[in-house]
Amino acid sequence: MTREEYASILVPNITHTRKYYEELYKKRDLKEDAMVVRIGPSPTGSVHIGTLYQAIVAKRFASQTNGVCFLRIEDTDQKREVEDGVNLILNSLAKYDIGFDESPLEGGEYGPYIQSERKEIYGAFVKDLIEKDLAYPSFITEEEKKSITEAQTKSKGRIGYFGPWAAKERALSIEEVLNKIKDGIPYVIRLKSNGDFENKIVVEDCIKGRVEFPENDMDIVILKRDGLPTYHFAHAVDDFLMHTTHVTRGDEWLSSVPIHIELFKTLGYEPPKYAHLATIQKEEDGHRRKISKRKDPEANVLYYSEKGIPVDAVKIYLMTLANSNFEEWMIENPNSKLEEFTMEFKKMSTSGALFDMEKLLNIARNYLSKISAKEMYEETLLWAEKYDKEFADMLKEEKEIAIATLNIERESQKPRKDFAMYSEVKNGVWYMFKEWFTNNEYEWQKINDLENIKEILNTYFKEYYDETDTEEEWFNKVKLCCDKLGYASNMKEYKQNPDAYKGNVADVSTVIRVALTTKSKTPNLYDIMKILGKEEIKRRIELI
Ligand code: GLU
Repeated sequence: MTREEYASILVPNITHTRKYYEELYKKRDLKEDAMVVRIGPSPTGSVHIGTLYQAIVAKRFASQTNGVCFLRIEDTDQKREVEDGVNLILNSLAKYDIGFDESPLEGGEYGPYIQSERKEIYGAFVKDLIEKDLAYPSFITEEEKKSITEAQTKSKGRIGYFGPWAAKERALSIEEVLNKIKDGIPYVIRLKSNGDFENKIVVEDCIKGRVEFPENDMDIVILKRDGLPTYHFAHAVDDFLMHTTHVTRGDEWLSSVPIHIELFKTLGYEPPKYAHLATIQKEEDGHRRKISKRKDPEANVLYYSEKGIPVDAVKIYLMTLANSNFEEWMIENPNSKLEEFTMEFKKMSTSGALFDMEKLLNIARNYLSKISAKEMYEETLLWAEKYDKEFADMLKEEKEIAIATLNIERESQKPRKDFAMYSEVKNGVWYMFKEWFTNNEYEWQKINDLENIKEILNTYFKEYYDETDTEEEWFNKVKLCCDKLGYASNMKEYKQNPDAYKGNVADVSTVIRVALTTKSKTPNLYDIMKILGKEEIKRRIELI
């Protein structure tokens, strides 16, 4: 039996050769310094903020070098896969408008972009390695593996399948292998490592700098029992065939680099450049730890959609995490788009990027203060249609009032920064809607005696309020009302002799504010009253 026939038994049903694929996926026609980068999320559940971070970084490097950024779904671990996981990734990333050049949706010349659909490709490569005696079948059971680990632990040796531990299976003859297969014993295919743990390899990581490792000498699994490759093997095959120039990925993969270097060497390819991105961390009880979907709701990108934290604010925030000089650049270039920033590996954190929710919310507040009232209305409505139907209906019914309210102290030099997320808007506008302004709980402050409150409201409304007043006239009238009822209209005089008054003009304004909105803090009261109009103001005063 030839080695080729032998390989066909071990990896059956493969129609094309490795060479066929190498010729099929031609070198990309790009300029020398163009970067080809990718993200490779696995469909194991909702998308992690780290994946979005990696996507933003990858996309930036590709765009600024006129390169390519593609999305590859890494679904070779089918045990961990969740239903609809691929769509979850595609939809979540689409919300952030990353825009991949190639992906399972867009397609592209280097597809398929879903690893499980590339099974035949990996098979062809594994077959080739078996033919060249660079890979071999391994039949050991979980129990046998466990006893090897126990023996290694006992002798304080290194853990893994390598050297003497792998010798027995490496030495199996073709006949012995075929007999086992005939007996139906399941097997995986392992790399026949050629490495020596005593040798050192040096890798120049684009972010971490020079990193030294011992060579890999583990006979790692490259093809699993289900015929799908392991992450390591798929990475080598795909990133070669797809002509990735820079592998930007989470630094949990840094320690696997020796395996990857050996795989590329075994395949006879130049490895790509590696850029291991620091993980996003969180501070807890004075310690830093990796942000995790299990413990931290904000680790899940859906969290931001649910809260209505604007997509652009999240993106700006992730850019500040990625490059230490991004914030400075934004201040210097307030009118530039994110896409105009040049990202540099040198400016990336080598250890950990600390996630700061307060900072993100500040960015969001700033961002939302700068958009027009109409845009704010439309984005809030989009959010509400998904997460708060009742609010969405009301927004549609009271569109004008909602926009006018959102426009108070907006579209000016120093706009009001009261919302960090669309989910906060309801609390800031509901009281403007007639239908919702019933059975209220009022936040009365210093003046909280109902008789005094009614006296102020009635006097003010009957004797001073005039719908056509300018803001200045309006405020003077409030003051006149104070004088009449024994409240200080002049703060200075009040401070000099507070006991001489029942309260001051600020307290009186607060009574009017609370009566009309229930709230002690609102945007400009004059504007609120303008929007409510005389009839509604009258109705609200009568409710007290
Ligand atoms: N599927 C891998 C992960 O989810 C991707 C790593 C890579 O980008 O190579 O961590």
